[in-house]
Amino acid sequence: MAVIDYETGISKLGDLIRDIEDFPKPGIVFKDITPLLANPGGLSLAVEYLTQPFRKLHVDLVVGAESRGFIFGTAVAQSLSAGFVPIRKPGKLPYDTHSETYDLEYGSDQVEIHCDAIKPGNRVLLIDDVLATGGTMAACCRLVEKLGGEIVGAAVLIELAFLHGRSKLDGRPLHSVLTYETE
Ligand code: AMP
Repeated sequence: MAVIDYETGISKLGDLIRDIEDFPKPGIVFKDITPLLANPGGLSLAVEYLTQPFRKLHVDLVVGAESRGFIFGTAVAQSLSAGFVPIRKPGKLPYDTHSETYDLEYGSDQVEIHCDAIKPGNRVLLIDDVLATGGTMAACCRLVEKLGGEIVGAAVLIELAFLHGRSKLDGRPLHSVLTYETE
């Protein structure tokens, strides 16, 4: 890949994200990352921009939530020579789990982690594609801390800043590659 400056890279990534209106329900503008994933330069740039701030911070484990957190999380883990830990929807993990519940607009949802996935003192980076209301990322942070993990930071490709999800992270450091201030 040719070397490009950061602003050009950000603009290229933005061009590879497709807005799908009224998906999965009316009123939601869905950020479709599949064009970015299918673009070789775009994918490696996204992984590089997610990883960059954490290169010198010594990360033991990258944690990603089902399912798009798996895509970027494993790539970032490999780039940092760290391990990868999946967080999944209820009932999917085969061994003993811890779970956390979080609020949705209507109702609630749950995420689970294997109870031995993180050792006390492990330095953990959390990765997801999109931070919307922040409920998923906040629940994942609580799971990591329940197991004694030390959160180095959280990183997302896309922050929907108008939904104020960052405030749910209670000051835990968040790095976002692309920030959308309006829908
Ligand atoms: P939230 O818990 O509200 O921050 O939602 C975060 C999760 O839902 C992420 O794992 C995203 O994959 C997905 N998500 C929420 N809103 C959107 C959106 N507008 N476009 C794409 N994915 C979204």
